[in-house]
Amino acid sequence: MKSKLLLAAACALSVVPLAFAEGHHWSYQGHSSAAHWAELDESFKTCKLGKHQSPIDVDTRAVERSADAKPIGFAYAAGPGEVVNNGHTIQVNLPAAGSVTLDGVEYKLLQFHFHTPSEEKIDGKSYPLVAHLVHKNAEGQLAVVAVLFKAGKENAALKPVFDHLPAKEGETRKLDVAVDAADLLPANRAYYAFTGSLTTPPCSEEVRWQVLKTPVELSRSQLAAFRKLYRMNARPVQPLNGRKVLAVNSN
Ligand SMILES: [Zn+2]
Repeated sequence: MKSKLLLAAACALSVVPLAFAEGHHWSYQGHSSAAHWAELDESFKTCKLGKHQSPIDVDTRAVERSADAKPIGFAYAAGPGEVVNNGHTIQVNLPAAGSVTLDGVEYKLLQFHFHTPSEEKIDGKSYPLVAHLVHKNAEGQLAVVAVLFKAGKENAALKPVFDHLPAKEGETRKLDVAVDAADLLPANRAYYAFTGSLTTPPCSEEVRWQVLKTPVELSRSQLAAFRKLYRMNARPVQPLNGRKVLAVNSN
């Protein structure tokens, strides 16, 4: 059922200030920008000291092609969603959205959120937007699938989220249509894989990254709607420090 195409968006607005009352005022500008994150709080020191940080610039001439690496096993499912403006991005929380399987290990999809421009670069080039789909396995380890967006046609899958972005920090809105993260994916699921970190404080490492090679499209007005709230929320690329980047084909 293509319920996401429905425009009826009777949105339930609420404000959850508690989640934002605490914490540290990291940002993407000025004295609290990415270059200063490690200075803002002791628990953010990995942002500076970590050797496996994200995002990275993928040099496609240097990637290793692996015959052993398997395609990502996508098993996303349509379910309820809640859109949150968390003060750093727009995030869609998903309590029952399915999972991915990486090397035989299942990671449940928890949420996706956006950065503009894309944090990851491919051969030095960034894209206007990226979606990070964040997953966790039974051991609590994280895996992120990144979907790059280029300017083009309106993206129908983004529509229920982008048509009514919660404008205020701390504002949440329940989606009245089911969200299926599979609708965000390109047809070709070839990807670049590497070990990295959260791209926001505390910059924790041991995160599995999968950047899909093929971008999908969004319209200029969709991009503008996001940039009206977040003009720039991308951490600069980080040194590879000898990490391997694998290029894996889709099946
Ligand atoms: Zn992210």
